[in-house]
Amino acid sequence: MRDENCIFCKIVAGEIPSRTLFEDEDFKVMLDVGPAAKGHALIIPKAHYADIYELPGELAGEAMKLAKRMATHMTTVLNCDGFNILQNNGEVAGQTVFHYHMHLIPRYKGGDEMILWKANHFSDEEMDALAEKLKVQ
Ligand code: AMP
Ligand code: ZN
Repeated sequence: MRDENCIFCKIVAGEIPSRTLFEDEDFKVMLDVGPAAKGHALIIPKAHYADIYELPGELAGEAMKLAKRMATHMTTVLNCDGFNILQNNGEVAGQTVFHYHMHLIPRYKGGDEMILWKANHFSDEEMDALAEKLKVQ
């Protein structure tokens, strides 16, 4: 449940300081040290799971409930104009800390742009084949 080399496990254990916004038995919410915008925070489970694939479904559900609670509270307090909730899995997806976390990013009118992706184009045939392949039974 703990990875000795993991920075977030060290934060959970109190070995590295953090600016904690919320804490319960299962989660900690803290300010991100490299914020994309004012108030950028992270939800982390206290137990070590590298990513969404390792995270148990029940904790994933609880994390999303907590994200809603935090987003509502932070929007009221910060008076921000929008909110991104992001979660990266794997280096190619931008993950740099391999202890599951959700980013809570308040967005402000006139604030920094944060371009997440540009739309690709796939043929209708490719899209149909993909939809077929990805159907969950
Ligand atoms: P990701 O790229 O999705 O893995 O995000 C990792 C995030 O962790 C980045 O936004 C970092 O700024 C943040 N981070 C790294 N070290 C710390 C730390 N000691 N306290 C708070 N946030 C951190
Ligand atoms: Zn960890």
